[in-house]
Amino acid sequence: MSANRPIVAVYPGSFDPVTLGHEDVVRRTLRFCDRLIVGVAENATQAKGQLFEVGERLELMAEVFGAQERVECVSFSGLLVDFAREAGARFIIRGLRAVSDFDYEFQMAQMNRELWRDVETIFLTPEVGYSFLSSSLVREVASLGGDVSAAVSPPVLERLRRRLPGLG
Ligand code: ADP
Repeated sequence: MSANRPIVAVYPGSFDPVTLGHEDVVRRTLRFCDRLIVGVAENATQAKGQLFEVGERLELMAEVFGAQERVECVSFSGLLVDFAREAGARFIIRGLRAVSDFDYEFQMAQMNRELWRDVETIFLTPEVGYSFLSSSLVREVASLGGDVSAAVSPPVLERLRRRLPGLG
């Protein structure tokens, strides 16, 4: 390993919308990574219950991470390992909140290694207060008019309010 080679990682996900849990993972990653590419997966766009289009998710992420010059937010389609390789990243960052995340994450990490031997998946756990936080929970609670101000940054809250007038 070259001491001069920058460490580049990708952090893939749906980010519908980006939450304080995602922000926590990004902050932790920047402690050991030189550059982080946050990738919004377009494949999952048709997923049931989606709230924001990929473009809107990226706009929100630009607001949330805009001041972080080592963070870049882009969308991608196709295989994650292809996206990582093209981005010059050998590391995939994923968040692990609870045992319930483990099965899927473990399978995905093993499959990605099958697809590209050199890729490493790094799992990070968030601040305990964010362990129960997910984008789907934010969408669900917000769509029922519940307060999600402890779960997302102000620009995201603002956008949720515009999208869901019942939120107040
Ligand atoms: P995906 O559809 O790929 O799960 P998400 O946007 O829901 O996309 O999550 C992206 C990544 O961020 C996943 O690895 C997920 O486990 C992680 N993540 C989501 N919410 C949190 C959180 N509150 N704390 C830590 N990691 C999280």
